[in-house]
Amino acid sequence: MNKDIIFKKLYNAAKKSYSNNEIPVGALIVKNNKIISVGSNNRQKKYYIFGHAEINAILKASKKIGDWRLNECDLYVTLEPCNMCVNIINESRIKNVYYLLSGKKNTNNLKNYFQIDNNNEYNKKITDLMNKFFKKLRK
Ligand SMILES: [Zn+2]
Repeated sequence: MNKDIIFKKLYNAAKKSYSNNEIPVGALIVKNNKIISVGSNNRQKKYYIFGHAEINAILKASKKIGDWRLNECDLYVTLEPCNMCVNIINESRIKNVYYLLSGKKNTNNLKNYFQIDNNNEYNKKITDLMNKFFKKLRK
């Protein structure tokens, strides 16, 4: 699967989170070389504690394939998943997780989590969006 398409979609999902005043994170799930779901953050907007991009992508993917087991799926996310998401991701049996920016380093000991070294324009855009968000918060 073309990585540029993945990153473009991740960026758009992160932008959607940003425009809803959420931490600009985007996630998507790939199965058999196809993107089957995309998720953004909606924790603040919906007062929904589970509203992280990864969880939303997982819920959509499960609904789509009619199974909560996502063994044949890979998850892509703009930021290293938090502990809550790591638990849900593991529970869903997702095969591999690829993340762009490192977070709290809580996936260091997990063998199916990989930080992608991806030097394309979207990597920079996603980083800029993150910086913009936290700058806005500090004002
Ligand atoms: Zn999370």
